Amino acid sequence: MDNKREILLNPGPVTLSKSVREALQKPDLCHREKDFADMTLDSLQKISHIYETENTHIPVMLTGSGTAAVEAMLQSFSSSTVKSLIVANGVYGERMASMLTRQKKPFDIIKGNWTDPLDLQQTKEHLEKSKYSAVLTVHHETTTGRLNDISALSELAEHFHVPVMLDAVSSFGSEDISFKNLMAVAATGNKCLHGIPGISFVLAEKKLLEEGTTESVSLYLDLFEYYTAQKSGFSPFTQSVQALYALQAALNEFFALGGLSARKQLYVQRKKQVLTILEKHGIQTLINKSDFSSYLTSYFLPQNISKGYEALHNSLKEKGYTIYAGQGNFSGKIFRIAVMGDIYESEMNNLILHLDTFFGAQA
Ligand SMILES: *Cc1c(COP(=O)(O)O)cnc(C)c1O
Repeated sequence: MDNKREILLNPGPVTLSKSVREALQKPDLCHREKDFADMTLDSLQKISHIYETENTHIPVMLTGSGTAAVEAMLQSFSSSTVKSLIVANGVYGERMASMLTRQKKPFDIIKGNWTDPLDLQQTKEHLEKSKYSAVLTVHHETTTGRLNDISALSELAEHFHVPVMLDAVSSFGSEDISFKNLMAVAATGNKCLHGIPGISFVLAEKKLLEEGTTESVSLYLDLFEYYTAQKSGFSPFTQSVQALYALQAALNEFFALGGLSARKQLYVQRKKQVLTILEKHGIQTLINKSDFSSYLTSYFLPQNISKGYEALHNSLKEKGYTIYAGQGNFSGKIFRIAVMGDIYESEMNNLILHLDTFFGAQA
C-alpha cells in the first residue's frame, strides 16, 4: 500500500486514481488542434451516456469549477423579465440567489431550514400565485448531505408548465436523476466523476440551445458561445487541457467499473462502514440516515471532545485523511465525511480503525 496518499473525505475534490494522475502527464496540446477537439467530442459523448440523455440534452463544457457551471447556467438561461423561483434548503440554494442578484435578474426565494426537505407546500403556493419562468434548486445539498427529492419538485413545477434548472454539481455521476422537465443541469468533473478541478459542464435541453435566444449578461460564461464552438469540438476560450485529459481518463474508469449504479453501490458500501463505527460511539447524524446522498453524511460533533472539530480533523489529518467542517450556522457543530474518489479497501479499513480509536479515547 502506498502510505503517502492523502485521502480526501471532503465532498470534492477527490483522491485521484493512478490512471487519472497519469493522464495529467500527457504531452502538451494546443486547444486549437484536432486532437483536442477529438478528446472534447469523446468526453461529451461519454458524459451524455452516463444518464443516457443523448436524445434530449446536450452537455456544454467549460473551464471552471462547479460554481462556474451553475453561474453559467443561470446567467445563460434564466429570464431577465419573468421571475425565477429558487427553492433552497442550504448554502448552495441560497448561493443561486446571490448569483441572480448580481445578474440583476428577477426572482423569489423560498428559504427553507437547512435541516428540512424542500418545502413543496410553499412552492405550490408560489406557483399558484405568480408566474415564473423556471424553478431553480439543488439536487444534493452538500451543506447537510441531504439528497433532495427532485422528481417531486419537478412534477409539481411541470403541473404549472414551469421547467426546472438544477445544480447537480455534487450528485452527477452517483445519484439517479430523472431529466424530465429539467431544462438545464449543472455538473462538474471533479466530484463524483473523479477528475481534477477545472472542467465543468451544463446539460441543457436541445431545443433550448438550438433556439439560441440568449439572456446572457456575461461573455465568458455564455453557454451559447460554447455550444456553437463545441459542435466541432472547440471552445471560444482556452480550456483547461490537462483537466480534460484527467476527465477523459476518469470517464473511462467510470464506465470500466460499471457506470452509475456501480459507483453508487461502492459509495453506499463505504458510507455504511463509516456510519456503523460512528453509531457505535453514539454519534448522531444531523438528518435522518435515509435522507443522505450515497456518499456524504453529516454528524453532530460530540460535546465531550475538547478542542472540538479541530481535534478530530487534526488527528485524522495526521494519519492522511481529510474530513470536512460544517458551513455557516453549522460551523463548529457538525462534521462531514464524504467517501467518493479513489480509496482502497485497506484505506477505508484504516479510516475505521482511526475513527474507532479517536472516539474510543473520548469516552
Ligand atoms: C461543490 C458544490 C458546488 C460548487 O462547486 P465548486 O467546484 O466548489 O465551485 C456547487 N453546488 C453544490 C451542490 C456543490 O456541492
